[in-house]
Parts: sequence; structure tokens; C-alpha cells
Amino acid sequence: MSDEDKLRTYRGKRHFDRTREPSGERTVRQDGAGGQDRDDDPVFVVQIHDASTMHFDFRLEVDGVLKSWSVPKGPSTDPHDKRLALPTEDHPMAYRDFEGVIPEGEYGGGTVIVWDQGTYRPMSHDKKKRPVPFAEALENGHATFELHGEKLRGQYALTRFHGREERSGASAKPTWLLVRKGAGEGKGAGEGKGAGEGKGSGKDGGKSGGGKSGGTPDPRRARSARSGRTLRQVAEAPDAPRWEPHGGDKE
Ligand code: MN
Repeated sequence: MSDEDKLRTYRGKRHFDRTREPSGERTVRQDGAGGQDRDDDPVFVVQIHDASTMHFDFRLEVDGVLKSWSVPKGPSTDPHDKRLALPTEDHPMAYRDFEGVIPEGEYGGGTVIVWDQGTYRPMSHDKKKRPVPFAEALENGHATFELHGEKLRGQYALTRFHGREERSGASAKPTWLLVRKGAGEGKGAGEGKGAGEGKGSGKDGGKSGGGKSGGTPDPRRARSARSGRTLRQVAEAPDAPRWEPHGGDKE
């Protein structure tokens, strides 16, 4: 399937004459400031999207597009957290830079910030320890990779369960889990003696809201890796990309 085909769904849902989101022209990658980007490694981005339901969008560059999953609670740095990841349509590479406001009434209406960005290293191997192309690993329903982001670092795995494709109804989509792989992989890694982290005294009781999500910040307080802004600051910024009904001129 060509990149064009992959993006057709995406384009069909958006009105590019009316929104200033990137429409998916091929762009040469240029990571001016990014520092740690290694030229040949594919990129990833995690956006926080304050749409009808708050969620994180986890996107990995694969064969010229951003393979995408909606992760309601966001990726966790805690290997004990298994985070639900629901596939969404491929997005164009240019979307990884998008931070701004999608107008109400458009698909995905709401505010978007780039929570984390960077590169990743595919890590999947077959039984003979040969590297498996990342697209193939995803096709097989299990892909491991190492993230080199500003916030997320280390090995993660995406694993599909249930059927591999939509079954009969449009609603039965495959479900994936996004999990941080334990550092060290061996036995005792996080498990051992003290279990010293967090938890502790049971003192901190009620407050922190909605049960512990230690590995992920509150999306409303989280700050953009690009601009340092919160969702609210982006939503209110006068220079945020916004809907302009007849604004023919984009930069
Ligand atoms: Mn989204």
C-alpha cells in the first residue's frame, strides 16, 4: 500500500481548506534544534489531545507515515502499567509538529500539544535473533523498540491482543497494550527487596486523584516538549495555529 493510500483515510476526515493542520505533503526531515536525533533513526511523537475525551496520541514513524495509537492514560514509565493503546489512522509525518487548536466541529476538535518527541530504535528480533523490520513486527502484533525522547527513554513494547483486524462490525478493532519493559529484564529488577518507590506510607491517601498513575503526569498540567506550554496555554495563545475559515495563507 502506498503512502498516499495510507493517508487517504486521514485526509478524508479533515478539511484542509479550513484547518491549518498539515495536509501530508512529503517533507524533508530537518531536526534543527533536536540535538539527540540520530539522522537515520525513525521518529516518534506523543501528543496530548484534549478532544471530547482527553487522551495521548502515540505515533511512530513507519515507512513514511506516523503509525498511531490513542492511549487514554498515556504511556507509563512504570513497567507494571499496561496501557491500553487503540489504533487510529496513520497520520502524515508533518503532523508530528502540530501543536495548536483543532476547531470544534472538525474531526478531533480540541487542543493538541507535543508532549514528547524524539527517535526510536526498532528492537524486534526473530527466534534466530535476526532483526525483524519494524512494519513486519507490527503486522505480527508484537513490536519492541527503544525510545530516545526528552521524557520517555528506554525500551517499550506494543502488543496486540484479540483479533488482528476489524471483524464484522466496524466497532471491533484490535486492541494493543503499550508497556515499558523492565530495566534489566532479569529477575529481580524492579521487584526486589525494598520496593522502595512511591507507595510508601499510605499517608498520601485520597487526593492525587483517580488512582495512581505514577508513570504519567496529569495531562492538564503536562508541558509541551516543543514550547513548554500546557494545553491551556496553547489553547489561549494568540499565535497558536487555529481554524481560519477563509485564511488562504499559511506559512
Ligand atoms: Mn487524538
